Amino acid sequence: MQEKNSLSTPVRYFKGVGPKRSDDLARLGIMMAEDLIYYLPSRYEDRSKIVMIRELKMGQAQAIEGEIISTSVRRTKSGRLMFQAMVTDKSGFIHAVWFNQPYLKDYIIKSAKVVLYGKVDRLDRVQIISPEYEILKEDGAESPHMRRIVPIYPATSELSSKYLRSLAFQVVSQCSRLMEERLPVYIIAREHLVDAKFAFRNIHFPVSFENLERAYRRIVFEEFFILQLALAMKKSTSRDAGGLKHSTEGELMLEFRKTIAFELTEGQRKAIADIQRDMSSERPMNRLLEGDVGSGKTIVAAHALVLTVQNDFQGCLMAPTEVLARQHFIGLSEMLMPLGVSVALLVGGINSETKSRLYADIKEGRVNIVVGTHAIIQEGVEFNKLGLAVVDEQHKFGVDQRAILKYKGDKPHILAMTATPIPRTLALTVYGDLDISVIKELPKGRKPIATYLVDEAKRDKVYGFIREELEKGRQAYVICPKIGEASVAKCESCHPEAKPKDLRVVDSSAHSGPQNDAMSSISKVKNVTETFEKLKNEVFSGYGIGLLHGKMAPKDKEMVMKDFKKGHIKVLVSTVVIEVGIDVPNATVMLIENADRFGLSQLHQLRGRVGRGEHESYCILLANPTTDDAAERLKAIEETLDGFRIAEADLEIRGPGEFFGTHQHGLPEIRFGNILKDFGIMERARREAFDLVGRDPELKEEHHRLLKAALVARFKDKIGVVHA
Ligand code: ADP
Ligand code: MG
Repeated sequence: MQEKNSLSTPVRYFKGVGPKRSDDLARLGIMMAEDLIYYLPSRYEDRSKIVMIRELKMGQAQAIEGEIISTSVRRTKSGRLMFQAMVTDKSGFIHAVWFNQPYLKDYIIKSAKVVLYGKVDRLDRVQIISPEYEILKEDGAESPHMRRIVPIYPATSELSSKYLRSLAFQVVSQCSRLMEERLPVYIIAREHLVDAKFAFRNIHFPVSFENLERAYRRIVFEEFFILQLALAMKKSTSRDAGGLKHSTEGELMLEFRKTIAFELTEGQRKAIADIQRDMSSERPMNRLLEGDVGSGKTIVAAHALVLTVQNDFQGCLMAPTEVLARQHFIGLSEMLMPLGVSVALLVGGINSETKSRLYADIKEGRVNIVVGTHAIIQEGVEFNKLGLAVVDEQHKFGVDQRAILKYKGDKPHILAMTATPIPRTLALTVYGDLDISVIKELPKGRKPIATYLVDEAKRDKVYGFIREELEKGRQAYVICPKIGEASVAKCESCHPEAKPKDLRVVDSSAHSGPQNDAMSSISKVKNVTETFEKLKNEVFSGYGIGLLHGKMAPKDKEMVMKDFKKGHIKVLVSTVVIEVGIDVPNATVMLIENADRFGLSQLHQLRGRVGRGEHESYCILLANPTTDDAAERLKAIEETLDGFRIAEADLEIRGPGEFFGTHQHGLPEIRFGNILKDFGIMERARREAFDLVGRDPELKEEHHRLLKAALVARFKDKIGVVHA
C-alpha cells in the first residue's frame, strides 16, 4: 500500500474515503492529496471564541462549550422530528435543537462535553438552532471543526463542507509540509511573502486572521506571478527580432500630414510616436490603442498605414461590421487616394468575379491598403507583402481571428484598437503581453453630451424635443433592442452580418448581463421595424426616416448609411448595428429605447455616436428599469461621460468574464485571486515576473526550475496563445 505521505497519494488512502467518496471527490477534480490542498475554502467562520451562555447574543452565530444535561426527541406541530439537548456551562443553560436528525440521540448523550456553533434565535423560546457540534474527547485532541477559525469549503450535494473539512484536516496535517517551494528565495524575501508550507497550512486552518491574510496573499501572488510569467515570456518571444523595420521619414508621410485639417491631440501624438518607434524597430509591433469613443483613433491608424505604404508594404484594417468597414473605407479613401495610395474594400457577399479580381490585386500588390470585415482573414486572401494589420474594435473579434490576421504576412506589425476602455486591472491580465497606448482626451471643442434618463411618461416630450432639433437642421438616432418579431430569439448585435461558420464575430457586451435574459418574454420591448413605421407615419411624418438593422442586405444598409450621412435621412431608426464607430457629426440626438436592456459599455458606445460635431448633443435613455441593478447601471451612464469610469463600473457590476462577454476574450482562468480586489498583488507579481524574464528569458536557471514546471503544467501548449 502506498504511503500517506506523498502529495500524489490518491485520496482514497485517507481515512473516511471509500470508493463512493473517491468518485465524488474526483468529480471536484480532487484525485490526490495535492489536489485537496489546492481546494481552498471559500470562507471562514470564527469559532475560536467560546461565548458564555449567559452572554450569548440573539441572532448571531456563536460558539459555546458545555455539558449535556438532558436530551429528548419530539415531534413539532408541523410534524418534523426535533431532537433537543439542554446544555449548561458555569453561566447558564440553553436548549439546542436539530430537525429531522433523530439519530443524533446516539451521539449527543447525557454528560457528553460538547462545543456547539450556531445561530441563537427564538423559536418558542431562545434556542441555538441546528448548530454544528463537536463532542469533546477525553484526550483533548484538536478538532478541525471547533475552537478555531474554521474553513468552509465549497460543498456539493454529495460532499458536505464538514466532510471536506475532516479530510482536508488529515491531508493538510500530513502533507502540507511536503509542498515544494516554487518561488525563488529572493522573491519571497523581496515581496515579504510567507513560504509555501506556511501558506497552505494557514489557508486551510489559520491560527489567526493575520496568518490567513498572509497565506492568502502568498497563494494569490504565486498564481498571478505564474500568469504574468507566461505573459512576459510570450511578449519576449513575440518580440524576437525579424520584424519589418520601417523607416519613418518619407515624402508620403509629409504629404499626408499636410492634409489633416485639425490639430492632433496630445494623446494622438503620443500614440503615433509610440507606433513609429515600434514600427521602426527590429521587433514586430504588438500594440493596443485604447481610446474612448470619438477620441480619434482612426487618424492614428491612418498614420500607421501610411507609414507601411511608404515603406512599400501593404496594410490592412479589419473592422467588426460591414457598416463600419465601409465607413473606414470611405474615410481612408478620401484621405489617401489623392496621395496615390490605392485603398480597396473587402467584405462578405461580393460576387465571385469582383472577388477574384480583388484577390488578385491584393496578391500582386496593386492594392496598398485593404479595408474590410473578417472577409480579410478568409483563406483565399493572400497579401503580397503585409507590413501592418490594424484591428478596429478588436475586442469584438476572437483571439483566433486576430491570430489568423497575423499569419497573413511574415511577422507584420499589429495595431489593435478598442473604444471599450479596459480598466488597468484587466489590461494587465488579458493584454499583459501587449504594449498599450491610451488616448485620454477628446479632441478640443467637443461639447459634453447631456444625458437624461427618462421614463415612458415623458415619451411625448422627448419626441417634441427631437422635433425641435430636426427643425434646427440636426439629425437623430433612435435605437431599439430588437429587429422584429421574427428575430426575437436572436441578439442581433451578435449576428451583425453573415459570417463563415467557423469564425464568429463576437460581441463584447450585447450578449451578457441581465438585459437579454428576458428578451423574448417582455412584450413592450421596442422593435425597430414597428418603431420605424410609427415614427415615419405618425410622430415624424414629413421628415426623412431611415431604417437600419443587421438583417438587411449589405447594399441597402450602405444606402441608408449614405443617406443619413448626406442628411436625406433625418431620423435613423436602428438596432445596435450602429454601435461601433459610425461618424455623422450633424446627428445630435441619441434616443435609446429600453435602455435597461443594454450593457453599460454598449450604452456608452451608442452615446458616442453623437457629440461629434460643433452642436450641443443629447443622449436620452428611455427606460423603466425593473431591477435595482438595472437602475444602478443607468445611473452610472447618466452621471459620467468618462469611458474608463463606466468600464470600471461595468466590470464591477458584471465581473471580468461578463465584461468581455465571450469566451474568446483570452481572459485566463483565475482560481484563487480576484483580479479586481487583488489588483495590488497583480501589479507586484507582474513587476517581479517581467524582471525575472528579463534576466532569465527561458527560465533556465536552477532556482527557476520549479517555476518553469508549474508554468508548463498551468498553460501547457497555451503559452503561445495567451494572447494573439
Ligand atoms: P474613434 O476613436 O471613436 O474611432 P474617430 O477616429 O472616428 O474616433 O474620430 C471621431 C471624429 O473626430 C472624426 O470625425 C475625426 O475626424 C475627428 N477627429 C479626430 N481627431 C481629431 C482632432 N485632433 N481634432 C478634431 N477632430 C478630430
Ligand atoms: Mg473608431
